[in-house]
Amino acid sequence: MKDQNFLKANNARSLWHPMTSPADSLSNAPTIVTEASGVRIRDVDGHEVIDGVGGLWNVNLGYSCQPVKDAISAQLDRLPYYSIFRGTSNDCVIELAEELRAFFEPDGLTRAFFTSGGSDSVETALRLARQYHKLRGQAGRVKFLSLKKGYHGTHMGGASVNGNANFRSNYEPLLPGCHHITAPYPYRNPFNETDPARLAQLILAQIEDEIAFQGADTIAAFIMEPILGAGGVIVPDASFMPGVEAICRRHGILLIADEVITAFGRTGAWSGSRLWGVKPDFMCTAKAITNGYFPFGAVMIAEAVAEVFESDASAKAAIGHGYTYSGHPVGAAAALACLAETRRLNVIENAAARGAQLFAGLKDLQTKYDVIGDVRGGHGLMLALELVADRTTRQPADKPVPGKVQQAAYEAGAMVRVSGPNIILSPSLVLSEADAQGILDALDAGFRAL
Ligand code: PMP
Repeated sequence: MKDQNFLKANNARSLWHPMTSPADSLSNAPTIVTEASGVRIRDVDGHEVIDGVGGLWNVNLGYSCQPVKDAISAQLDRLPYYSIFRGTSNDCVIELAEELRAFFEPDGLTRAFFTSGGSDSVETALRLARQYHKLRGQAGRVKFLSLKKGYHGTHMGGASVNGNANFRSNYEPLLPGCHHITAPYPYRNPFNETDPARLAQLILAQIEDEIAFQGADTIAAFIMEPILGAGGVIVPDASFMPGVEAICRRHGILLIADEVITAFGRTGAWSGSRLWGVKPDFMCTAKAITNGYFPFGAVMIAEAVAEVFESDASAKAAIGHGYTYSGHPVGAAAALACLAETRRLNVIENAAARGAQLFAGLKDLQTKYDVIGDVRGGHGLMLALELVADRTTRQPADKPVPGKVQQAAYEAGAMVRVSGPNIILSPSLVLSEADAQGILDALDAGFRAL
């Protein structure tokens, strides 16, 4: 490894960072992570902290999952790559598809289409949704509905259904026919409705209204995250996603659950759809499917949707979509090992227990620090603090404030993530009680330092 002076001096010289201003990178060196073990990361200066971010919501099993490393290594030795485009397959991806089928059967999802990550999974679901309607003689169903504050990756389709202007405005014009509905965000919404259940009803009525306005026969799919992640861990009322599902069924609109963050246990349930008792038509997964050990994703497909494709032998039903790395055997081997570990360790139990511990601890911090306007979580290990300048008016905190808390928390022993006015926690699902407390202590020190 190059020494720390080389790394710090050259970070921005030939490297652009995602979701970062290149100009800002030139003057502000990032934290350069060089090692990790368990749930801890170590930076180039030798400072070791608990990773409260879990990579990027993805390292659910921590950094020392030996069975995954072994599986990757063995697969690299046996078959490092073979494509699964028409006419070929590989053994590992077949085994994985069967495992995923068993894992997601309770969600009604029985086929897998493999991708290289979350954005690919979203793009796949959006495209297959349009094709499904064409196959059923409803070629006019081309539009998509989604939620403001939703995040669906960065490809052109995903960016078009994204509900955050930061990821859209610099890249417009995006895909036509994408319409955005109010987020189920009780802390801030145009109805000034703080009760989550009443807010859910208002937004469901808005969805009905938008469908009537657009014409149901023009809409292909509604895409949503069961809990909105990047938008600031927005937890809808339990009635919301089932309400969306019912509306979709009534109008022949497909429901795409974007579970890139929520699948595989993060919410304390095996999927966000299962958490809310919903059966989507497509489920986008990535992240924890390989825990960050290999770039990989899968779109799970409902039996009824699969039948429409499989019962039509014409060229119209051929899937004209896919990636060189769809079904990559090394990714498939990593995913198989991750699934086995995810089940063996029964991570949902720990996710629920540690999530409850962190949620209570964050609520305690809120009683100590006025800058914490809202605490969100309550379902496993996705939590957020929204920082405000004034609790009564809910005016957002000044821009540098969350970064200052993050920096001080880092010095005190935990990496947390800043997203706009929010501080986000999404640690590994194997986090211990002591390490959860360690994150809370570091945050406490971070707020004290303000
Ligand atoms: N959908 C959701 C809900 C996500 O959170 C993300 C990534 N954070 C994506 C899609 C895109 O995934 P990727 O970054 O792997 O392309």
